[in-house]
Amino acid sequence: MIAFGLITTLFAVVGMAIARERGVDMLSGFCLGLLLGPFGLVGTYMLGSTDDRDEVMLKKGQRVRCNQCAELARPEAVVCPSCHHALAPAVE
Ligand SMILES: [Zn+2]
Repeated sequence: MIAFGLITTLFAVVGMAIARERGVDMLSGFCLGLLLGPFGLVGTYMLGSTDDRDEVMLKKGQRVRCNQCAELARPEAVVCPSCHHALAPAVE
């Protein structure tokens, strides 16, 4: 029974980590991993849409949004890769 508890806790912690990576509420990831094990992990992964991941990258400063076409570009970029509009330097 100790092994069962350990495995359940492991899934919950991994679920939380996946939730954080995918921009999902970490408590949801924890509960899904705890209750559903590997299926919960897959569920948590699926919850994080591409849009959410973009938002996470924006928050982390890994991407900047072009104010001309709203596409995401790398912070090092001088011009937007989509519309070639000059990007403002990344200042928060
Ligand atoms: Zn652009």
